[in-house]
Amino acid sequence: MRFEIQAECPVTGARAGVLHTAHGDVETPVFMPVGTQATVKGVLPRDLAEELDAKIILANTYHLYLRPGHELIRQMGGLHRFMAWDRAILTDSGGFQVFSLSDLRRITEEGVLFRSHLNGDAHMFSPESTVDVQLAFGSDIAMVLDECPAWPAEFDLAAEAMRRTVRWARAGFVHYRRRSEETPLNTALFPIVQGSMYKDLRAECAGALAELDADGYAIGGLSVGEPRALSLEMAELTAKLLPVDRPRYVMGVGMPDELPQYVARGIDMMDCVLPSRNARNGYLFTTTGRVVIKQTQYKEDPRPIDDSCPCYTCRNFSRAYLRHLFLAGEITFSTLATLHNLQRYLDRMREIRQAILLGKFPELLKAVSEQVF
Ligand SMILES: [Zn+2]
Repeated sequence: MRFEIQAECPVTGARAGVLHTAHGDVETPVFMPVGTQATVKGVLPRDLAEELDAKIILANTYHLYLRPGHELIRQMGGLHRFMAWDRAILTDSGGFQVFSLSDLRRITEEGVLFRSHLNGDAHMFSPESTVDVQLAFGSDIAMVLDECPAWPAEFDLAAEAMRRTVRWARAGFVHYRRRSEETPLNTALFPIVQGSMYKDLRAECAGALAELDADGYAIGGLSVGEPRALSLEMAELTAKLLPVDRPRYVMGVGMPDELPQYVARGIDMMDCVLPSRNARNGYLFTTTGRVVIKQTQYKEDPRPIDDSCPCYTCRNFSRAYLRHLFLAGEITFSTLATLHNLQRYLDRMREIRQAILLGKFPELLKAVSEQVF
């Protein structure tokens, strides 16, 4: 994988670039729709590609490892073939879900022992095994196993988790490089910067991980309930300590108005379940704010969700129709609403990218900060 920077904003830390992956080029900054179970809920891969022109999506290692299993996915020709998506795929390491979903887990130097949230079976994730699982998927971008403490975390606990994350990253990279000597790999591996909300810990972690000379870097442990200002501060200080010529990915953010804020701090990649999850709950993002479709005010509203949105849903359907589908509990509502929300997120990133290329990003940032979601 190669990352090319095409333009940088002279005022902020924003950059526009291209990630060249084995499954096509991805223009950055980029928002990656989340396809937890090897599907973006409610949306066909055909529409993700042809309607939304998404270039990369995210899938979850923890879920796919437990069900249907990485060996089955490998047998079926890898994740791209399995889900009929021939563009890029990023998979997380599974660490975040082990820490958030599994009630029983034991962390050792070798990895984390946990019980499946599905049937209680015991499993072990190690820095080496999570690399192997993601290689079996055939992910374009894989993540190293990390330990993501809950927020707020005591300094000592956060320090211990961060240092273990660094040791696991080193072990993961040794294994990954050994595997790539056996067979050339089309999978890039990103380590994840942790350190909770402690500047010193973030700095120590970023410095240690930078030595791995990875193809890109993720910043984890944000968007875990902390105030937004703190999250932005951590992203900014971490991004500055990472190699300038590698993509930086903040995991799990954010609201539409947060996207340019992270970009302004030198972030190139983001993902979040918000646009798709909120869509299914009838919460729709527009260029001027939000539409909560169940509200009575939309009962006889012939307008689309957003007049200026080019998505399939806005080209064809009224708010009145969408409200009817939502109240009737029709599955089609989820599909139409998700298409719209994802279009909004992807378009927002395209506007941001265009503004950086044209040298007009500070103006966009200012205008967006005045909007309310
Ligand atoms: Zn739309």
